[in-house]
Amino acid sequence: MALSSAQISDFIASQLAVWPMAAGNFEALKGVKVKEVELPGWTVKVQFNPARIVSSSAKVDAKSLKERKCFLCAANRPEVQEGIDWADRYTVLINPFPIFPRHLTIPDTTHTDQLIEGRIADMMRLAAELEDYTVFYNGPRCGASAPDHMHFQAGNSDFLTLADALENAELKTIATDGDAVLALVDTLPLKVFVIDAPADDAEAGQRLFKRLYDAIPVPEGEKEPMMNLLCYPTPAGVRLVVIPRKRHRPSCYGTEGEGTMLLSPASVDMGGVFITPLEKDFNALDAAKITEILDELCLSAEEINEIARNVK
Ligand SMILES: [Zn+2]
Repeated sequence: MALSSAQISDFIASQLAVWPMAAGNFEALKGVKVKEVELPGWTVKVQFNPARIVSSSAKVDAKSLKERKCFLCAANRPEVQEGIDWADRYTVLINPFPIFPRHLTIPDTTHTDQLIEGRIADMMRLAAELEDYTVFYNGPRCGASAPDHMHFQAGNSDFLTLADALENAELKTIATDGDAVLALVDTLPLKVFVIDAPADDAEAGQRLFKRLYDAIPVPEGEKEPMMNLLCYPTPAGVRLVVIPRKRHRPSCYGTEGEGTMLLSPASVDMGGVFITPLEKDFNALDAAKITEILDELCLSAEEINEIARNVK
């Protein structure tokens, strides 16, 4: 049975009623400090969120992963945490360490690596069913805190700002598949690809994604191109935003020394909400610094056009 936004709202409420730790974290979100920063064509937000220190400083190297119990496996999840099965392959959970006022984690039912290939149609269908949520994916070295267990996340769409910026940006078409379109946007501070597919033809979206995926270089030692993905419903269907990356964390990443910041950008940051667990970083993050970080982590207009030329 298809999910609905109303069903998810009831589910979140029922979990928060019985899970004080998660309820406390969702409640604390209401008091976090937020500021707006204007970039050319895109207003981003900065959120001071001390509870996210666990995630921003997460150790995701192979040894650390082996030594911890996977928190996304059903066997290791807290007793109080319930899930909704979806598509015989995923479980919808609430995220007990939220960034969004409504925040979900959607792991695969089996313990399998965080890899996106073959899952775009799932992502698009999920976004279409959840209605007012943005489903997102962090690559294994692009912010995923469990790179050893495949999972999506989802949060209420009105929280992120990139969708609005894309509404007003120029989309340059690269390829089509039926009514689905692959385009690039190289005029915003963040260079992205966009795939628009009809809600009833997620497979066309997946085929276009595969053509793009095959054109993006894979760094040595990685299993897939580095990327963050955002997916949300639009009046015309479903939109997938592909944000190719060239670096995991900014050069200023750290907690000690002049100019360091505890900032580990992932899909949410790329979607327009930069999360800072430390107040000094919240104060220091301005348009110039955000631009510098985006230039370091993401592709230039030249680089994204080079990929576009390689799409077969
Ligand atoms: Zn697992």
